[in-house]
Amino acid sequence: MSDFDYDLFTIGAGSGGVRASRLTALKGLKVAVAEEHRPGGTCVIRGCVPKKFMVYASGFKKQFELAKSYGWEVGSPSFDWPAFRDAMNAEVDRLSGIYAKNLGNAGVELIEERAEFIDAHTLELKPSGRRVTAKCILIATGGRPNVDETLEGVEHSIVSDHLFHLKKLPSSMVIAGGGYIACEFAEVFAQLGVQTTLVYRGDTVLRGFDDDVREAVHEGLKRAGVRVITKTVFTRIEKQGDGKKAVHLKNGDELVVDEVVFAIGRDAYTAGLGLENAGVATGRNGAVLVDEYSRTSVPHIYAVGDVTNRVNLTPVAIREAVCFVETVFNDNPTAYDHSNVASAVFTQPPVGTVGLTEAEARHEHGEVDVYKTSFRPMKGMLGPDPDRMMMKIVVQRGTNRVLGVHIVGDDAPEIIQAIAIAVKAGLTKEQFDATCAVHPTVAEELVTMREKWTPPELRPGR
Ligand code: NDP
Repeated sequence: MSDFDYDLFTIGAGSGGVRASRLTALKGLKVAVAEEHRPGGTCVIRGCVPKKFMVYASGFKKQFELAKSYGWEVGSPSFDWPAFRDAMNAEVDRLSGIYAKNLGNAGVELIEERAEFIDAHTLELKPSGRRVTAKCILIATGGRPNVDETLEGVEHSIVSDHLFHLKKLPSSMVIAGGGYIACEFAEVFAQLGVQTTLVYRGDTVLRGFDDDVREAVHEGLKRAGVRVITKTVFTRIEKQGDGKKAVHLKNGDELVVDEVVFAIGRDAYTAGLGLENAGVATGRNGAVLVDEYSRTSVPHIYAVGDVTNRVNLTPVAIREAVCFVETVFNDNPTAYDHSNVASAVFTQPPVGTVGLTEAEARHEHGEVDVYKTSFRPMKGMLGPDPDRMMMKIVVQRGTNRVLGVHIVGDDAPEIIQAIAIAVKAGLTKEQFDATCAVHPTVAEELVTMREKWTPPELRPGR
């Protein structure tokens, strides 16, 4: 080895940092990873994994109702929050333990401390104060939830991190935001019987998604019993004598609730990392600036995952980490292609989406053809008021290449994972049509949509 303590030192044992560290150590190189909390990162500890358990927990409400329509006697089910919460957190502990074990098995040294840059090759560990040097450093510190620090009474609010540890299920909650986290948790808590209000500054939630998805989710929130207040923001939070919080809105409304939650986006977690000591350049909201190989402004320092604010999703961080190892330690420069990354929003019903929205497709490719359908899936037909399913295919006119697929409905995340292969492969609408349906399924609609959708303003006679 060289004059350094480590060949690779990774800051952050989340999805990206763990994958890069393990792959590098398995090559026989000396690797350490520093983690100030617990191995697993946002996804395992306070994000995707516990969130999905909460989605499952809350989803039983609809299942019980549906079961009745199929002839089941289900009595009056009740929900035990502490029992569920503890089971969920025990599973999170187990997974975090597996992350630690896998690091050890690969030969990575796990240092359960914070690491901060002293210079471009030196890090100080805290609280021990030990200094270590590394030939190559990987920044994989992820992101942190934003709150509006300037808001009066902000100290009475919480963020998504805290929702997995609530002592008791609140009777009422207000959530600020209209993105992934706000929508997912609004439906979780509404289904669990919490009086839930969502306050969004825009007019339709999930900005950046296809408009049909946004409308379906917005309506879905209301159907789930969420009170949705748009075009306004919090102006002040006051804690009352009874412990409840009075939230004042810019539109003059006042909401009195048990819990106030901020879900207004996440920023790169670079504060206090000492990046300036190493000369690592950052951009908007502290995100580390990188090139297509995840290399920062300092040639031997790289960054992957949410800290770079590219596509902030766990599987993307993992792919970026794999490319980093290929580039740096396998002498095979590999850039990750961030196009056509499928994603899901675990609302109820959920969203699955891949590729361009209709608006993006029109902007990038001019004329496009749109195929879309909305229907009541068979599974709910015996029930009183089934959720609808929305499916949409956006096709480039001329080449007939499928540019985007957008689904809202049960199993949409599972369906989109498979469809993403076709979209990533650049398949055409004809190839979708040539694929035989699986019947009876909801997904068969994706290979049986034949009629182009015409916007109302372009229909004949108008
Ligand atoms: P998002 O960026 O998705 O949404 C932020 C929301 O907060 C937007 O509705 C935004 O409004 C609003 N907002 C931003 N600033 C303010 C403000 N000052 N006052 C009021 N409202 C504001 O962030 P999330 O926190 O929901 O999620 C963070 C990221 O985590 C996501 O982008 C995603 O990458 C990842 N994630 C992925 C999940 C998944 O894959 N299922 C689940 C959860 C998170 P506007 O629309 O007007 O900008």
